[in-house]
Amino acid sequence: MKLFSLEGRVAMVTGCNKGLGQALAVALAEAGADIVGVNRRSAVETRARVEALGRTYHNIEAELGSDKASNIVDRALAQAGKLDILANNAGTIRRAPALEFREEDWDAVVDVNLKAAFFLAQQVARHLVDREVQGKIVNIASVLSFQGGIRVPSYTASKSGILGLTRLLANEWAEHGINVNAIAPGYMATDNTQALREDEQRSAEILGRIPAGRWGEPDDLAGAVVFLCSDAANYVHGHALAVDGGWLAR
Ligand code: NAP
Repeated sequence: MKLFSLEGRVAMVTGCNKGLGQALAVALAEAGADIVGVNRRSAVETRARVEALGRTYHNIEAELGSDKASNIVDRALAQAGKLDILANNAGTIRRAPALEFREEDWDAVVDVNLKAAFFLAQQVARHLVDREVQGKIVNIASVLSFQGGIRVPSYTASKSGILGLTRLLANEWAEHGINVNAIAPGYMATDNTQALREDEQRSAEILGRIPAGRWGEPDDLAGAVVFLCSDAANYVHGHALAVDGGWLAR
């Protein structure tokens, strides 16, 4: 399956100390990539899992939304030498009814989920264009890129925005050999959805409309991310691949 091999590539994954980001980093490493994690703290478990696969792991400590993307990418290049892949995964969520939603909860979410993702993509794309090599960018969207959701106004805005941005960047950068795509996870069992899973009524409502009949697990994203970051996706641009147990089809 050479088409899916990431041997010799370096992949930057944001927010990979746990949750979906950790699963993305491990899947990319399993396919042969070395990993640059961008995290607020050291990512001990992710480093151990990547290194156990015989790959190199670099950790860049950064606060997305306030640290400059140019500085993050410069530090990554100083450590890893190059970047071929970016997985914009780090994300945050704030829950409150729209009538009560506070401006700081708008900014906190949009700055990380949308603004930081754009400026990191811009920096990585500049590096790829300078090197005149092909590259892959995968943005982690959501089913709320397609639906309104409830009590998560800044999250829905950011995830709808990231889908539009994925398409715009795909249009602009296809000519440079850069594929920009998105993965739209459904309802996955991570810290992001802990409050939902603890709310018996919401949890039952959600589970009741997932055709697959279960919450997603982080490893459910492995095949999708390897595909979109590999040569197998060379002619795939601006696509959002839902990995949602059928939620959007319902
Ligand atoms: P998670 O377990 O809460 O992980 C979020 C990751 O993002 C963590 O590594 C977190 O770091 C990092 N992060 C958040 N704010 C950051 C900041 N300012 N700077 C640096 N890193 C930051 O949630 P998850 O479910 O794995 O979410 C990963 C992505 O998938 C997010 O974009 C989320 O919106 C998206 N998503 C999740 C679901 C789901 O059902 N779980 C569904 C659709 C989409 P810390 O550990 O330091 O907080």
